Amino acid sequence: MELVISFFFEIWIQIARVFHWSRRNARFIVLLGGPGAGKGTLAAMLAKLLGIPHLNFGNVIRREIKGDTEIGRVWGPKVKAGKLIPDSVVLKLLKRELLKPEYINGAILDGIPRTVAQGKGLRWLLASLGNRIDSVIMLAVSPEDLQERLALRRTCVNGTCARSFHLKYLPPKVENVCDHCGSALMQRDDETPEAIATRMKEFDLTSTPLQSYYKWLKLLIVVVSTNAAGPEKALEDVLFALEESSA
Ligand SMILES: [Zn+2]
Repeated sequence: MELVISFFFEIWIQIARVFHWSRRNARFIVLLGGPGAGKGTLAAMLAKLLGIPHLNFGNVIRREIKGDTEIGRVWGPKVKAGKLIPDSVVLKLLKRELLKPEYINGAILDGIPRTVAQGKGLRWLLASLGNRIDSVIMLAVSPEDLQERLALRRTCVNGTCARSFHLKYLPPKVENVCDHCGSALMQRDDETPEAIATRMKEFDLTSTPLQSYYKWLKLLIVVVSTNAAGPEKALEDVLFALEESSA
């Protein structure tokens, strides 16, 4: 049965490709990892090296919530209370993003999918554009390392930049100033100890089935990242794994 489904799935991708010919070479890489695993830093480095834009879905949601939109008005207060936005709304926002011309060559997806339902939705969404996910990278970090990272993390207040720094491992050149755009740095609302605890619990609950799903699709690559080795080592391991998987 599975073979039959994947056979038709592939045919569907090929048909969709005819209608979205300009997107035929698009490459999509999904990054998974708990809050503070270093997805943002890794995605920025990967984007530069592979020439594919970084799609930080957390920022898309944050922009939406700050803006005066229907989704923002309904979900803004609930997200502040630590609630997650439902999959149907998330997929609607994702589709709107992926149809933008800047993602015609693909994207490094960071912060999406968070659930198996979103993973399935993403797979179908990409298929309807004649695309598929190349690889899924799970950045694994120990709980102790994660806590240390988040407590010392600072994020650029400029929503379109939104780079993150770490006071110990990736400090800004000038204290409290973003290296990239010169804006101020802040500690995010959702990175207070209480908000972190809620996010970690939610991440564990949803991430395990999501990893199983991508393992089943033979797309999952697990890379272990430690505070001691730093983000460059994680990048090196990821590039090696990506090469192995495409060989
Ligand atoms: Zn900045």
